[in-house]
Amino acid sequence: MVSGYDHYKNIPSLPTRITEKKKKPKMVAVVDEDNCTGCQACVPFCPVDCIAPVPLDKYETPIPPVQIKFNECIGCSICARVCSKMTWDAIDMLATHEFEESYQIALNDTKFPPYGSPMCN
Ligand code: SF4
Ligand code: SF4
Repeated sequence: MVSGYDHYKNIPSLPTRITEKKKKPKMVAVVDEDNCTGCQACVPFCPVDCIAPVPLDKYETPIPPVQIKFNECIGCSICARVCSKMTWDAIDMLATHEFEESYQIALNDTKFPPYGSPMCN
């Protein structure tokens, strides 16, 4: 029998520990800030803790959207699955070469980019 809760099956588990990027990923998560409600449901699911609210000085709204620290993302897609299962559908997974072309940014194997400290998109 189909239950109203079936939709919530296959929601990823919360990480038991936070790790960090060790190689350049094949995919990168990008938040559609116009679609993100800022609910932060995705934040605790990220295994590398690279999702954070956009600073309030960028968005003068009480609940800002979240953003990805793109150079820390390992491309696991967990945040996109959580968002589409639990709340909305505000995270796209881009192929890394597509991300690099679109944003004119070269990703590397570590979370520390050569141009300074990690930045947010
Ligand atoms: S779960 Fe989706 S809507 Fe909620 S903060 Fe994350 S990206 Fe935004
Ligand atoms: S895909 Fe999402 S959950 Fe996975 S590392 Fe990137 S931002 Fe975090």
